[in-house]
Amino acid sequence: MQTRKNTRQIQVGPVAVGGGAPVVVQSMTNTDTRDVAATVEQIRRLEEAGCEIIRVAVLDLEAARAIRAIRERISIPLIADIHFDHRLAIAAMEHGAQGIRINPGNLGGEAKLARVAEAASAHGVAIRVGVNAGSLEKDILARYGHPTPAALAESALRNVAKLERLGFYEIKISLKSSDALTTVEAYRQLSAACDYPLHLGVTEAGGLIAGTVKSSVALGILLYEGIGDTFRISLTRDPVEEIRVGYELLRSLHLRNRGPELISCPTCGRCQVNLFGLAEEVERHIQKLTTPLKIAVMGCVVNGPGEAREADIGVAGGNGVGIIFKKGKIFKKVPEDQVLEIFLHEIDQMTREHQP
Ligand code: SF4
Repeated sequence: MQTRKNTRQIQVGPVAVGGGAPVVVQSMTNTDTRDVAATVEQIRRLEEAGCEIIRVAVLDLEAARAIRAIRERISIPLIADIHFDHRLAIAAMEHGAQGIRINPGNLGGEAKLARVAEAASAHGVAIRVGVNAGSLEKDILARYGHPTPAALAESALRNVAKLERLGFYEIKISLKSSDALTTVEAYRQLSAACDYPLHLGVTEAGGLIAGTVKSSVALGILLYEGIGDTFRISLTRDPVEEIRVGYELLRSLHLRNRGPELISCPTCGRCQVNLFGLAEEVERHIQKLTTPLKIAVMGCVVNGPGEAREADIGVAGGNGVGIIFKKGKIFKKVPEDQVLEIFLHEIDQMTREHQP
């Protein structure tokens, strides 16, 4: 893996972004921001799953004002997502948003942008400049014909320059396309052209499977190349799933390690137990654990413990029994109807032992 690019560091509330800080996992709520109770409930579930920065859509003044009440009840920094109306950006910051996401090109001109930048400086708020393939400037689109990677990068840099001219530099940048390879190339070009921290994402990525694959391909390539300081996996699902996928992605790249890792075999003709059910139950149980632990759920004893040699704890199905093993060695043989209960108990025990 290539060394991570040393970007300029900014702060989103207490969370450092860029400049060698860990890659940050973000998500966005899909509740009505004006509904404080529902928004807080969703953010808390996201926090529990490991979300580190949350973005909320701010469509009107009431939503901007709701930020204060939301922030009082959550512990991760909040970014307000604003389009078209600079007054909403200012109101969001006045009500406690620690970051704002805007497209400087659609706020209604330089004077309005200047007021936003001024408020951001006064409140110590970072600005994410977000450029979207669907809303590129007409002249750029005319020159490139399509939202090509170069067109996206040029648009992002043009919008960043608008803030720089105002003396504002607490910036991170995102450029979103729904195409994985366009995303990769656009971020590569952007990364080569500036040292601002970058927020990665593939927009409108799709449902759980399509979205996970598309985002993992694009973000996996970029993160492997050392590009990217924060990211969101966009899924047409409960945003909590975005966080789970995000951490699995970081774990696969050896960038971060949060919570247990579940290894389970795909099963084959040797499997004599209901492995899918067992793996599902184990997965559900470990979702809230934060201690890194490698857990294996294998279908048979022929290859199970061997295939999962690296696991801290595992279970392999047998004929009417489950064999629990630790560090590749058999620890206990238990009747099949008690496997789940005993295995989960052993996982909890080991989690306690591994706690720092
Ligand atoms: S662990 Fe056993 S059941 Fe699972 S795939 Fe390997 S051989 Fe088949």
